[in-house]
Amino acid sequence: MLRLQAEYLLLRTRHPFIIARGGQSDYKTVWVRLTDGDGHEGWGEAAPTKFYGETPETVMEVLQNYAQHLPADPFDLEETDRRLETALRGNPSARAALSAAMHDLVGKRLGVPVYKLWGLDPAKAPMSTFTIGIDTPERIRMKVQEAAEYPILKIKLGSDRDLEILQTIRDATDRELRVDANCGWTVKHTIQMLPVLEEFGVTVLEQPLVPTDVEGLGVIRMAASIPIIADESCRTASDIPGLVGQVDGINIKLAKCGSLREAIRMIAVARAHHMTVMVGCMIESSLAITAAAHFTPLVDIVDLDGAALLAEDPFVGATIAGGQLRLPTGPGLGVTPR
Ligand code: MG
Repeated sequence: MLRLQAEYLLLRTRHPFIIARGGQSDYKTVWVRLTDGDGHEGWGEAAPTKFYGETPETVMEVLQNYAQHLPADPFDLEETDRRLETALRGNPSARAALSAAMHDLVGKRLGVPVYKLWGLDPAKAPMSTFTIGIDTPERIRMKVQEAAEYPILKIKLGSDRDLEILQTIRDATDRELRVDANCGWTVKHTIQMLPVLEEFGVTVLEQPLVPTDVEGLGVIRMAASIPIIADESCRTASDIPGLVGQVDGINIKLAKCGSLREAIRMIAVARAHHMTVMVGCMIESSLAITAAAHFTPLVDIVDLDGAALLAEDPFVGATIAGGQLRLPTGPGLGVTPR
């Protein structure tokens, strides 16, 4: 029988992390531990956001309720996933933490890293972007300087200072820039911004519009010369068919899709429609980042900087030093306490 323990992790970003719908410096995630009878322990982390209907407290409550219904056999991954999806619908980060912990446990019992369970080559993991949140010009210049080791920057836009932010960053660096407007623009405004993004050498545009405006995304895609990626418009695999033709690609996050297996399904569905696949994250420690890092050999674009933005990270796992994502080689997720 598996035993579940959960505790809060208090995380602080090095700088306040601001996006189009606000932000802060202090974040609370939930560390999940599953113990089997043989002394093996599987770990996962839930990084809940209000935007997707969760708080650290709802995660804790859901986990406590579910502790009585854990599978007897941790290898029962597929059926457990299906059961969790039904029983804990609407609690994606809580489910993702359980999914990560189960995969970690299975990998540890077999003595192999999770990427190896999937037959993946960790050397195929792409470079990761590093995100510059919305801020004053002075602080943005400082952040760009601090991020000197990262060859690709992701810029958060969607405020009334977008032009100033783009100009400030472009004046400070000639590195590759990708933009995430986090639902902050309209179709008309995005069409006006496209030549501006081109002028500043932006290579990718993520989620300019509100999640429901999928047709609007299609209009933008027709006018754009750079790939348009759906993030908030794409939570799970079943959202992908509706996005075909309207965007170039999708952004997968464990805290949205609810499990490692759902993430793999999303990759398969997106590939069947010849779409670009990106993987992103929340503000979370290296534990949640590493869970996502294990399937990155299958994706095109990586944005796994959640732990790199922290002042202190409680775990050691996947790293993005110099922008290159590197997976740990220990069994399971390969994450250890710092
Ligand atoms: Mg995004």
